[in-house]
Amino acid sequence: METKYIFVTGGVVSSLGKGIISSSLANLLIARGYRVTIQKFDPYINIDPGTLNPYEHGECYVTVDGHEADLDLGHYERFTDIHTTRANNITTGRIYRSVIDKERRGDYLGKTVQIVPHITDEIKRAVKALGNTGDFDFIITEIGGVVGDIESLPFLEAVRQLRWELGDNSLCIHLTYVPYIAAAKELKTKPTQHSVKKLQELGIQPDILVLRTEHHIGNDMRRKIALFCNVAPDAVVQSIDVDTIYRVPLRMHEQGLDDIVLRKTHAGPHPEPDMAAWLDFLHKMDNADDTVTIGLVGKYVELQDAYKSINEALFQAATYNTHKLKLVYIHSEKLTDADAGEKLGRMDGVIIAPGFGQRGIEGKFAALRYCREHDIPTFGICLGMQCMVIEYARDVLGLPDANSTEMSPSTPHPVIDLMEEQKSISNLGGTMRLGAYDCRLTAGSRAAAAYGTTDIRERHRHRFEFNNSYREAFEQAGMACTGINPASGLVEVVEIPSLRWFIGTQYHPEYSSTVLHPHPLFMSFMRAAIAYRDERAKSEKH
Ligand code: GLN
Repeated sequence: METKYIFVTGGVVSSLGKGIISSSLANLLIARGYRVTIQKFDPYINIDPGTLNPYEHGECYVTVDGHEADLDLGHYERFTDIHTTRANNITTGRIYRSVIDKERRGDYLGKTVQIVPHITDEIKRAVKALGNTGDFDFIITEIGGVVGDIESLPFLEAVRQLRWELGDNSLCIHLTYVPYIAAAKELKTKPTQHSVKKLQELGIQPDILVLRTEHHIGNDMRRKIALFCNVAPDAVVQSIDVDTIYRVPLRMHEQGLDDIVLRKTHAGPHPEPDMAAWLDFLHKMDNADDTVTIGLVGKYVELQDAYKSINEALFQAATYNTHKLKLVYIHSEKLTDADAGEKLGRMDGVIIAPGFGQRGIEGKFAALRYCREHDIPTFGICLGMQCMVIEYARDVLGLPDANSTEMSPSTPHPVIDLMEEQKSISNLGGTMRLGAYDCRLTAGSRAAAAYGTTDIRERHRHRFEFNNSYREAFEQAGMACTGINPASGLVEVVEIPSLRWFIGTQYHPEYSSTVLHPHPLFMSFMRAAIAYRDERAKSEKH
């Protein structure tokens, strides 16, 4: 089959869930046996989101090949189990950088370099690069932003040209919003009509409309929209709010979204999607009666998307253990030794979040002190693991000034320190230890038991490391280093074997937890949290 290209654009407002619709479509096509990948273009000038703070676009996701990516790539992986790479997330900045590099090299042979055709050609190349690998039947390309933005114009022009070149091997899905005006008790189609007009002005005729709505859109209204927008009535699909994003693939399938895509791209005869495993997950979710309460200690608690992958990994692990997840955000800046008991005492498990910089760090130490002394299942991720090490050094090793050189460059006890090769780096973007690295776990450790193996590979995003000159002191004092990078000897996992479940990972396991393959460490953490809750419940009864 020739590779088919599906473009996903958005209109009216942002945050309509283009990423979820793209992921859901990919999920359905994969369930039918097709090879699919998803790509996102972000129209901002940053080379990648690695230097953006979480207030801008939420969490920074990391691909196996070490690309700092938009959080939508996390949805792509969670919905499909595919591994994305740097080819799956491209910004305006990267497009311009490569065009400017070519100009400097003289590749344009003295021509004036322009948005059309040079920038648009570069965009088209980036779209086709995935198709040219021969690895995929479908490439789904999500265009970030909203139609009508200045920033997205070159991307839409590239889509227009590609649609023309690719003909039936491509199509455009446009996602819009149908607002409900409460006072008039009416859904309104005008914003959708306007946004489709805008797309048509740019030379793109959408083939399928997905309408995001909070209320059911009836057939009459769909027919009206179809008529005004030159779209077949059955190609007008509604995306109504659901309790969890993981229901969206089924909602799309019920309305035939995947069928329409296959029909319009002439993909030939195709099997029905095999959704058994997905349905099993939803069934577990719907039948989860008991609740497990997990506290997440971090400094971005007011931001829904800052810890997206952790939230999803926890939700998946709770669901597979047939529990509802109650996630309690605990602001690390407001947490002290005095109120740690009040805030953490009722938690079944505690996550100490990743992060950068000094803000909120003392609260993480207070949380860890409380959790360690009260033997609450505790999971430290990246900075969370580094904090575990620092707190242990201060309170158990008797080194009250111990710190990370990130927080205190002149600390006398740099238990977390910069690697030699990081010391000369002054640029921020793309310079951390990024992407997947091998790790060997100690046989018999809790981490190895969780994974069921000793050889693992996990994704990293950090600059600082456990300082190996303190390793012996930690091990003697009861904190074991149970995961080591075989090539560099860097410590990747620490745990306190004498406690119920107290593990810190220098890497980010949350990036590789998916709906069909929940992460083994999150699963193990969740089992420990549930067991701890049951144990407390039992002793309270007596
Ligand atoms: N700030 C720490 C470092 O750079 C941890 C980073 C993180 O939590 N992702 O090493």
